[in-house]
Amino acid sequence: MSLMKCNGIILKESKTKDEDKIIRVFTKEYGKLSFYVKDKKHNAATNIFSVVEIMFTEGENLHKVKSTYQIESFYNLRSDIERFTYASYFLEFIDELTEENNKDETLFNFLCYSFKKLEAYNDLELFKIIFEMRVLKEVGIYPNFFSCTQCEKDALNFDVFKGGVLCNNCKTESSFEILKSTQAAYIYILEAKIKDVYSFKVSDGVRMEMRKINDRFIKNNIEKEFKSLKFLGVL
Ligand SMILES: [Zn+2]
Repeated sequence: MSLMKCNGIILKESKTKDEDKIIRVFTKEYGKLSFYVKDKKHNAATNIFSVVEIMFTEGENLHKVKSTYQIESFYNLRSDIERFTYASYFLEFIDELTEENNKDETLFNFLCYSFKKLEAYNDLELFKIIFEMRVLKEVGIYPNFFSCTQCEKDALNFDVFKGGVLCNNCKTESSFEILKSTQAAYIYILEAKIKDVYSFKVSDGVRMEMRKINDRFIKNNIEKEFKSLKFLGVL
């Protein structure tokens, strides 16, 4: 059986009965894949968060890890409980929104860039808002902030059920008015180059609106309850 190579970030690890483990990895080359890790010597390199180079042989459901090389461990994410929790949530979020064997190099690069950035970013709440919305954009499930979803006029009322903003003529009972700067911030998140996407600040008013929009949009479009989010609630 021929040996294959990939680079990936470990999304999830679970121990099996006999102390081996199964890891789910978001790889650059193949999208999400699951591997069986037999030898303990690979344990350190295949911890959650790690970016790792894996040599493997193909299996029907689980590929078999033959050798590993850790490229990045994100030590600063492990040593700080708050950053650790945010990072865990980001991996859960990616896991939920991606399919096995569905290559997405842009999303992979964005995730690695975000983890690097998260090691030293101070405003974790804003970081979460930006991360979520940019991932939603990359996977193609994101609100329309550009113009009224019904008639394409300028619009500043957000309606989660209509999937975006509505003008004053089209607004509904479930829509709420948003600030022009909230709209501008979202358009920036959706359009900025990856290397620039985390480089802005917001006022408290904008932050409040963005938190509300993100939370409602995600709740309405993704059914999953994120375990790590519950933990963030009590931090
Ligand atoms: Zn309209």
